[in-house]
Amino acid sequence: MLQTWPKFTVVFFWVLVLCFAGTAGYAQTAKHIVVIDAAHGGDDAGVLGVDGAVEKDVTLAIALALQKELAKGGNVEALLTRNTDRTLSLEERKKIILKTNPALVLSLHANAGFGKTATGFELYYPGFAKAGAANKTAAAQDNRHLNDTVKLARLVQKNLDSLFPRQGRGLREAGVPLAEGLALPVLVVELGFITNADGKKKLTSAKAQAEIAGALAKSIKGFF
Ligand SMILES: [Zn+2]
Repeated sequence: MLQTWPKFTVVFFWVLVLCFAGTAGYAQTAKHIVVIDAAHGGDDAGVLGVDGAVEKDVTLAIALALQKELAKGGNVEALLTRNTDRTLSLEERKKIILKTNPALVLSLHANAGFGKTATGFELYYPGFAKAGAANKTAAAQDNRHLNDTVKLARLVQKNLDSLFPRQGRGLREAGVPLAEGLALPVLVVELGFITNADGKKKLTSAKAQAEIAGALAKSIKGFF
């Protein structure tokens, strides 16, 4: 009989209800933070492509488009290492990443290659060589991050492949300087080659940039 319950029981009940409601509400609005690294910038132009295309501009344009795409909806918030054309050292990038403590980092690059045959996108992730963990706990953590990075890489590969059929150059394990010392998934995306007319066109038109950003956003959302 409710009316005979001690007052504090009723109050306690409502406090519990509010607590659960609060937690549920938080869970719904909590966002996954990701860092998008627009490689190069400022004094560091990166690869010099055809018709004046430069890597630093391509990476920035696609990073900005990706941030915009992710802001449209969903539960991912993207922060950029740079959102202007400015010089940023590797250490400064790492500092931003550490301060942000994201769930993952996507580092965007564009490639240089010889001749017109060099085409397509490539994905790099730091392998076990990067690990060199001091103890078992750190090794297990590195292993988990490696699995997460590969999971993300497969999604990016699938989504970029539907945009650029048969142009995937593969998923490769390599030394990734940006990932060194960071205990989180870091994936490097070489978006394509700006050293030939076709690749340059694909990476510098606003339409293509938006499509690439869409494919990357879909991959990141699929990851969570
Ligand atoms: Zn680069």
